[in-house]
Amino acid sequence: MKAIISDLHSNIEALEAVFDDIDRLGIKDVYCLGDIIGYGPNPIECLKLVRERCKLVITGNHDRAIYDKESCESFNVRASKAIKWTIEQLEEIPDALDYLRNLPEVAEIDGIMCVHASPLDPIREYVTPQYAIEKRRLALLFEHVPNFCFVGHTHIPGVFTDRLTFNPPEKLFSNLYMLDPGNEKALINVGSVGQPRDSKVDACYVTFDGDSVVFRRVPYAKEKTRGKILGIPALDDFLGNRLLAGR
Ligand code: ZN
Repeated sequence: MKAIISDLHSNIEALEAVFDDIDRLGIKDVYCLGDIIGYGPNPIECLKLVRERCKLVITGNHDRAIYDKESCESFNVRASKAIKWTIEQLEEIPDALDYLRNLPEVAEIDGIMCVHASPLDPIREYVTPQYAIEKRRLALLFEHVPNFCFVGHTHIPGVFTDRLTFNPPEKLFSNLYMLDPGNEKALINVGSVGQPRDSKVDACYVTFDGDSVVFRRVPYAKEKTRGKILGIPALDDFLGNRLLAGR
């Protein structure tokens, strides 16, 4: 059994709660789909924990913005202010930049493609549930997905299928998606550990046993994380308040 986490966003309370859950399930192999940092108050702690515990980590747009000015320029004011603050914090870890710079954009878990954002634009494209309504772009993405693909980035968990549907976890029986190779392709968004945006506040991640994906939600001390964010002037209050709204 494996665990796949994404979009931690410097939220150590959420990340520790998720690792506790992973430990309770006895899972040793943890994979991270990027955005370890950005937005939140504990980049150093999150980076350390991920380096210690994750077998494989791929890069996200926020991880890249740490060393790549151009990617930071595409960010909104809140996000880029948080990145500038994060860069200062990470000076405490001498090889942090090298580590982030060397993260791959694409990887495989059990032969399944993994990217932070989208199969066609691994770092930036937001594959939102709206794609299942507009359909055209989603159909194009599936031309580039060999069978299945794990993604994060939108912070909205769920399963897109090549029938051009989107199913949030609560629409799946027992929050479980059974892979059906040869019959159905799927793009599986594992959700966000540190900043969920599906109107739910608990940290989200998935477990994967090679045949099925189970979406898990883990409560954590979000008031504490929010309080830290509100106490750091470089981090917009909105970034703290949204943790209580889940959006
Ligand atoms: Zn993110």
